Amino acid sequence: MSEPLAPVERVGILGGGQLALMLAQSVQKLGVRCTVLDPSENCCASTICDQIVGAYDDPEALRQLAECSEVVTYEFENVPAAAAEVIRPLRPIHPNPDALGYAQDRHHERTMFRELDIAIPNYRAIDDVETLQDALEELGTPAILKVRTLGYDGKGQVLINDAKNAAEAFATIGTVPAILDQFVEFTRELSIVATRSTHGDILYYPLSENVHRGGILRVSKAPARDVSERLVEQARHAARQILNRFDYVGTLAVEFFQIGSGESATLVANEIAPRVHNTGHWTIEGAQTSQFENHMRAVMGMELGSADPIGCSAMVNIIGDEPRKGALESMPEAHVHMYGKAPRAGRKIGHVTLNAPSEGELDALLERFTRVIG
Ligand code: AMP
Repeated sequence: MSEPLAPVERVGILGGGQLALMLAQSVQKLGVRCTVLDPSENCCASTICDQIVGAYDDPEALRQLAECSEVVTYEFENVPAAAAEVIRPLRPIHPNPDALGYAQDRHHERTMFRELDIAIPNYRAIDDVETLQDALEELGTPAILKVRTLGYDGKGQVLINDAKNAAEAFATIGTVPAILDQFVEFTRELSIVATRSTHGDILYYPLSENVHRGGILRVSKAPARDVSERLVEQARHAARQILNRFDYVGTLAVEFFQIGSGESATLVANEIAPRVHNTGHWTIEGAQTSQFENHMRAVMGMELGSADPIGCSAMVNIIGDEPRKGALESMPEAHVHMYGKAPRAGRKIGHVTLNAPSEGELDALLERFTRVIG
């Protein structure tokens, strides 16, 4: 499918969650209207988008989405490969759906990292309890067993502290194909978000430093502090390799573990997200052009906007419960994004971005925010 020549006015998005909502918000000012395909009626993004209610593998719904859009993108990586195959002959679809296949399967993803010469944790592919036992013997404990497909936000993974617990651990993740990761004693977690245009230009956002608890992202701070040029180049190199490998158009994130500190610090890649990413939400207020707008600019064939940061930012996820009534309102410096989702344990229902001219001022603001929110 050739690229549209006139400015794009209609974009189709597979998935209608908060990422689709923020993608659509980012281009409202450009007069772009989005249609989302999502199986849940009144999905998050339907507040500002037209919605087609349907399954991601429903050919009729997919054709409908293609028909009312000039270009199609997606907000999550678990779109079935068959969905892309329905869209591809009808409309341009970005990013390259081939990237999905790798992101959907942790073993394929790790194989891709290796092929591109990107350092990764020691790991083994697991098919049954026997291969798990062998892998535990080789890699030692602690180790993390992760389902190969459909795991997210810490779901589908279990920490193994003793090789005797292999059978129990394999049952816990549902007796499905998995990978076993050696436990990485990381100094911290970092990620890079980057956008590649249709012309192959790549813009990199500053690295963000991320804190996860229970496998769920809690806080991201950006630009990450005390990162050497070497670390930045290592992260950019990984992103560039992947973006170019897929002739990728749009925004991508790569998550890393930092091992060591100072001059000896190095990164190992954990996973990619072939889409806009939670660790890049701070860019809405904290960068010249957000990850969402740059993703949309890329898929619409437009020039990208600057990814330079504006001061220092911290993004705090709101998980599970609504914050105490009046708490957020009492802090006008907090940029609040509620997604309109019903509260549920472990569910991301919104996020807040704090922005300040210096690291010290940001830390003070974050401390006050933490006190206010309770
Ligand atoms: P993942 O689903 O792979 O993104 O893992 C979620 C979180 O679990 C990560 O952000 C880390 O905090 C932790 N984690 C995952 N894999 C490892 C590992 N190999 N070693 C140490 N911690 C890990």
